[in-house]
Amino acid sequence: MVTMDRMTIQYPTQLTDEEWRERLGPERYQVLRQQGTERAFTGALWDEHRPGSYRCAGCGTELFEATAKYDSGCGWPSFHTAAEPAAIQELDDRSHGMVRTEVRCTNCGGHLGHLFDDGPQPTGMRYCINSASLEFRPDDDEAPNEG
Ligand SMILES: [Zn+2]
Repeated sequence: MVTMDRMTIQYPTQLTDEEWRERLGPERYQVLRQQGTERAFTGALWDEHRPGSYRCAGCGTELFEATAKYDSGCGWPSFHTAAEPAAIQELDDRSHGMVRTEVRCTNCGGHLGHLFDDGPQPTGMRYCINSASLEFRPDDDEAPNEG
């Protein structure tokens, strides 16, 4: 098993710090680029139940399907399955005196949240993701607004 130095991982989408700040705005920047965590029950998407897809707020890569979202009660959007396993990178996170699994977007390296093993079937996993890291696209997004 190869241990990666987390500071030297190269992601396909590379922007400078300044460009990320500009693209994301302060709230998303703090979570995606500085491993921040929004406060529980304050994000835009923990209580979102419409059908659709959840994309990386940094680069637009599809990360989760609404069908994999479930109500974990933890105050953050929670999913039991990734839309595409290759889209999500798992890293050891030993910050804050805990050993956790950090999850990131493999395309831009944006911090998404953490992965726990107390989720429901079929996977038993819980992807605990910040709303600020996600962009929700409802299935009826394409529908005309007028009429
Ligand atoms: Zn991304």
